Amino acid sequence: MISTGSKTPRVLVLGSGTSTGVPLIGCRCEVCASRDPRDCRLRSSVYITCGGFAALIDVSPDFRQQALRHELPRVDAILLTHPHADHVFGLDDIRRYNTLQQASIPAYVRDFTFRGVSRMFSYIVAPTEAQKGMYRPQIEFHETGDATVDVGPFSMTSLEIPHGPARSTAFKLEHQGRAFVYAPDCSEMSDAFRAFIRGADCVMLDGLRDREHAGHLTIENSVAAMREAGVRRGFITHISHDIPHARLEQRLPPPVAAAYDGLSFEW
Ligand SMILES: [Zn+2]
Ligand SMILES: [Zn+2]
Ligand SMILES: [Zn+2]
Repeated sequence: MISTGSKTPRVLVLGSGTSTGVPLIGCRCEVCASRDPRDCRLRSSVYITCGGFAALIDVSPDFRQQALRHELPRVDAILLTHPHADHVFGLDDIRRYNTLQQASIPAYVRDFTFRGVSRMFSYIVAPTEAQKGMYRPQIEFHETGDATVDVGPFSMTSLEIPHGPARSTAFKLEHQGRAFVYAPDCSEMSDAFRAFIRGADCVMLDGLRDREHAGHLTIENSVAAMREAGVRRGFITHISHDIPHARLEQRLPPPVAAAYDGLSFEW
């Protein structure tokens, strides 16, 4: 079981893959057929621990598998970036943590995420009388605007960011003056987002692939944004099957590296 007790915040990458996951179903390309475990990319999510507290950013369709793989001991807070299936479809499995912890779990979301999740998971947010007796997740949703709020040992700030025709959220968690920013889905570096990551100690940002995509940054754009912002450490995530990890690792310039499932670091 992974330890949550260290006083220094630690990030564990539960998934570093794009919405399909890698390997893709039915694909036999070099990356999907690779034996390098870093080329197996579950849907994007991170688990952040500090002083016994554990925050989960996004709850992917692979969450159950991720929780079993890493023996995640608890979930004290959930942050959801946006209501796309690859970021929220594991929510039903949160019920196990309600049982283990004998408590409901707060979830922090921006307004558009709350609206989307309310439609997709009406039995969690607004159960009918018949649904109230079901074994269903107990989650208290908190809409976060631009204000900074305390989430366990972290000061959390969020920013709405462009994600093609949709929107997503960048989350910043600060602890003792050090900041980690997570934004797995982003199509464009707005001025506000550039300012949001400026000087951050660690940023993990969308870097889907080299070819352009309406909803995502290219690897080149993501790397350039992190370098320009002077981040101490950067990672690309939400990666497609276009490029194997080993080749990414060789070509990414410091301080940027590629995330992979199971990567863990302090910030
Ligand atoms: Zn996504
Ligand atoms: Zn493939
Ligand atoms: Zn998305």
